[in-house]
Amino acid sequence: MSEDETNVIIEAGAGVVWDELVQFCVDKNYGGIENLSIIPGSVGAAPIQNIGAYGQELKDTFLELKGIFTETGEEKIFKKSDCEFSYRSSIFKTEVANKFVITSLKLKLNKNPQIITPFKQLEEELNKQGINDLTLKDVRNTIIKIRNKKLPDPKEIGNAGSFFKNPIIAKEKYLKLKNSYPDMISYPVNGEHIKIAAGWLIEKCGWKGKRIGNVGTYKDHALVIVNYGDASGDEIFDFEGHIKHAVELKFGIRLENEVNIIS
Ligand SMILES: Cc1cc2nc3c(=O)[nH]c(=O)nc-3n(C[C@H](O)[C@H](O)[C@H](O)COP(=O)(O)OP(=O)(O)OC[C@H]3O[C@@H](n4cnc5c(N)ncnc54)[C@H](O)[C@@H]3O)c2cc1C
Repeated sequence: MSEDETNVIIEAGAGVVWDELVQFCVDKNYGGIENLSIIPGSVGAAPIQNIGAYGQELKDTFLELKGIFTETGEEKIFKKSDCEFSYRSSIFKTEVANKFVITSLKLKLNKNPQIITPFKQLEEELNKQGINDLTLKDVRNTIIKIRNKKLPDPKEIGNAGSFFKNPIIAKEKYLKLKNSYPDMISYPVNGEHIKIAAGWLIEKCGWKGKRIGNVGTYKDHALVIVNYGDASGDEIFDFEGHIKHAVELKFGIRLENEVNIIS
């Protein structure tokens, strides 16, 4: 760990539980990863899909990581610019997938944190509490409350979180769709592209809470596919195919998986 007046650099081992790192940083008032509270998994897995939630992504605070190539044993440091981070992706999910084991990573956090609450649901929940000077702890606690309410606990019902990525479409196409569906949930990406909430698309196709055998979409969150029993990989694969087909038919948008399919 090193620090100056404004920033602190934290190095964490790959085996650390991600949320324990978030908790540690929030307790110290180091800002930058509080919106990523209670994302399940390890620190080492966080860069793989550049984990993100509520307007923050790992890449926003990421400095570098260390690891080893499995075939050659060669050690390498990947700087941020080497990692090809993008929305739910990185070089570790593409070019070097399954060839490199991450052993630790460094994050640069802010000692005078800016609170980021760009999401309506988060803003509404924080406003409800009527707190004037928001702290990182307030944000973390509120995110935990929202997530616990809307996401199924993998310890109780098998699930991998969001199954699909939120599709990013051209503004022209977005404007046409928005005309037909004024309640469509979307977020601007840049001047030319808009991100559409995949959960909204799935819900509008009537697939929220729908179940076929032991597979279904979660009752409170259409983006999460749950395994209610002993569903096989093939059953889940078939189910996701139905959803993709329905969304493509209605909106002309092909959903992409956020999860990795292991064949
Ligand atoms: C209920 C729920 C909610 C979720 N919410 C979010 C969310 O809000 N945002 C988000 O981005 N994700 C979310 N996820 C997805 C998941 O939490 C993340 O992808 C997380 O990083 C997975 O961590 P893991 O340790 O379980 O990795 P695994 O699922 O075990 O592995 C994921 C991939 O990373 C690779 N990997 C793991 N560790 C290393 C390492 N040290 N070196 C190299 N490769 C490695 C694995 O080989 C695999 O390909 C959610 C999942 C669930 C179940």
